[in-house]
Amino acid sequence: MKTGNALYKAETGKAKDDLFARIGEFLWEQRLSPDPQHYAFAYRVMTEAQGPFGQTVAKLTDGGVRLSRADIEKLGGAVAMDAASQQAARAKSDGLVAQTQMQVEGFTDMVQAMRIETEDFGRDLAASADAMRDTGLGTDEVVRLTGAMLDRVRSAESRLEAATHEASELRAKLEEARDNARRDPLTDLPNRRAFEEAFKTQSANGAALCVAVCDVDHFKSVNDRFGHAVGDRVLKAIAEALSTACSGHMVARYGGEEFAILFTGTDRATALATLEGARITVAAKRYRLRESDEPLGAVTFSAGLTQGAEGESLGTVFGRADKLLYAAKHAGRNQLQIG
Ligand code: GH3
Ligand code: MG
Ligand code: MG
Repeated sequence: MKTGNALYKAETGKAKDDLFARIGEFLWEQRLSPDPQHYAFAYRVMTEAQGPFGQTVAKLTDGGVRLSRADIEKLGGAVAMDAASQQAARAKSDGLVAQTQMQVEGFTDMVQAMRIETEDFGRDLAASADAMRDTGLGTDEVVRLTGAMLDRVRSAESRLEAATHEASELRAKLEEARDNARRDPLTDLPNRRAFEEAFKTQSANGAALCVAVCDVDHFKSVNDRFGHAVGDRVLKAIAEALSTACSGHMVARYGGEEFAILFTGTDRATALATLEGARITVAAKRYRLRESDEPLGAVTFSAGLTQGAEGESLGTVFGRADKLLYAAKHAGRNQLQIG
């Protein structure tokens, strides 16, 4: 086996090894790209092999150990950032999804490093088996080799453990990111994206579908009279009331003060009865200001309800429900229109 140490002893090594080849080999062994910074470092290692600098490197790399970034930097060298690392660094500020992406890259690197380690280990094992057979090594040498190999196995084991841990964290983060992307943070209801996906899935399954579009009446005036924070609390309360009244069906916050309901496996009459129950419940609530107990007055909503025909797109069904909602507003609000 050719160790890094043997390479530094340039003057005493194989005469036919020229400087360029030895630098190349050093870079390969250290898994450093042929970047000018790395080349300069390797050049110094080779040309100052007998000096204190070369000796320090030789000591650090004894037994084929790879220099860490910190080692190289301590020795006055620099580790170039490859394009992937630069990109990963930029992505850091892009929130949870970017963070997750980076973890995937880190995880891949770790697995890759472990693969290389295992390869090295296999190669070493074969080489030492050859050496033992050819030269009849003494017990001390066998013990030393076995010890070195055990160290490597342990290091690979602990990396594997870290990788496994990383993988489960990654899975949890991905699930969280996936859920966050489909949930409205104010009301905790599914958002428009989740609603669209649910419609697509249910429609592909051939389920009987009804869609309702609900819009809070004169909501602007709640904000204007009591402030945005109170408006938010009212939205949360309406979201809760709708979810309870329409339990078993998807209630989503489609946008601002607009909610969409996907009735699955129900006919239009049943969906209408459920939605009418929700309307009456919401209209009957008497909200009061938490701080002063001042009444807010009734907060109502209007809605349009329609049934989806087989194969109809969400755009078509939703458009029809929206027109019905508009009609309900024009007819005096706090009511449903069905079509
Ligand atoms: P209409 O009966 O015709 O629907 O009247 P409206 O006042 O409800 O309708 P308009 O579209 O004029 O106003 C909707 C208001 O909803 C305006 C907007 O500030 C408010 N709004 C939208 N999203 C939120 C939110 O997340 N929080 C609060 N507090 N207000 C919101
Ligand atoms: Mg609106
Ligand atoms: Mg409104």
